[in-house]
Formats: sequence, structure tokens, C-alpha cells
Amino acid sequence: MRITLWALVAIPFLLILPYVAAATCGLWSFRRAIRIASLTPCPRCGTVVGRAPVIAAKDTYVQQEKERQKQHPGLKLRTVAEWAIRCPQCGNTFYFYPGSNKVQQVSRFMTTTT
Ligand SMILES: [Zn+2]
Repeated sequence: MRITLWALVAIPFLLILPYVAAATCGLWSFRRAIRIASLTPCPRCGTVVGRAPVIAAKDTYVQQEKERQKQHPGLKLRTVAEWAIRCPQCGNTFYFYPGSNKVQQVSRFMTTTT
């Protein structure tokens, strides 16, 4: 009786656990990506862009994704996240990929689609 009660408590917990772990991990890597991006120097002028342009770029990306989902429901056009970060110093736009934490001067999507 006691074992079945434990099982009733433990089984849902064990089922939820991977999701909680994945969510925590995702949030952690997301925060890490923001930190790495904000410490990245602009490829043109070398200024460390800081947090604000990174957050703005991330918000723009999320907004664009929402619009895209609205226009093409159920269709995933972009599987790779891309943050277009605008340098506050010289106005240069460069691209950060939170999946790989890499920076590129030219958008990956520009180079693959043209
Ligand atoms: Zn710059």
C-alpha cells in the first residue's frame, strides 16, 4: 500500500523532471547566449556592444518569428535563431547565433538564400 502511494507520487514527478530539466537548461543556455553576445565586440569598430542592443535584437527576432508564424501557421521557416545586433557605436549590424554562440558580419540567411 505504501509502495503504491509512493509510486503515485514518484511517477508523475519522474515524468515531469526531464521537462523541468530541459526548461532550466534552455533558460541557462539562453542567458549564457545573451551574456556572450553582450561581450562580443562589433566586427567593424571593436566596441563591446553591451546588453541593451542584444536584448533589443532578441526581442526583434522573437517579434519576427511571431509574425512569421501568423503568416504561415504551422510552418517553421527558420530553425536557426538569428539576432541582428546593431552596434551602438558605429551603427553596424552584425548577426549572432545563440544556438552556436557565433557572430557573423553577414546574415547566414542572406548567404544561403541568394
Ligand atoms: Zn561598431
